[in-house]
Amino acid sequence: MASSRRVFLMTVAAGGAALSTGVRAQSMLEEGDPTALSLGYKADTTQVNAKKFPKHAASQNCSNCALYQGKAGNPSGNCAIFGTKQVAATGWCSAWAQKS
Ligand code: SF4
Repeated sequence: MASSRRVFLMTVAAGGAALSTGVRAQSMLEEGDPTALSLGYKADTTQVNAKKFPKHAASQNCSNCALYQGKAGNPSGNCAIFGTKQVAATGWCSAWAQKS
């Protein structure tokens, strides 16, 4: 009886630890984030500064970028550059590369 109670308590403790560390809502990348600023990230590809980024085209966005990890059709997803922050599927930055 005592040992099953101990197992129960250990299970509860382990579950609580998993909840506190493993389940976190991912936040959206802000355009003012230092890395985002340095790469000219915009959540809306139509708002990209054309003078600063002359190679940018309106057809380029995160959802068709090789570094985008979001699922097709989702409004946002992870990017290989920005770690745990989510980028908008409609976004763009100067590291954009055509998805093959
Ligand atoms: S690297 Fe690609 S997916 Fe990531 S923010 Fe830039 S354009 Fe979007």
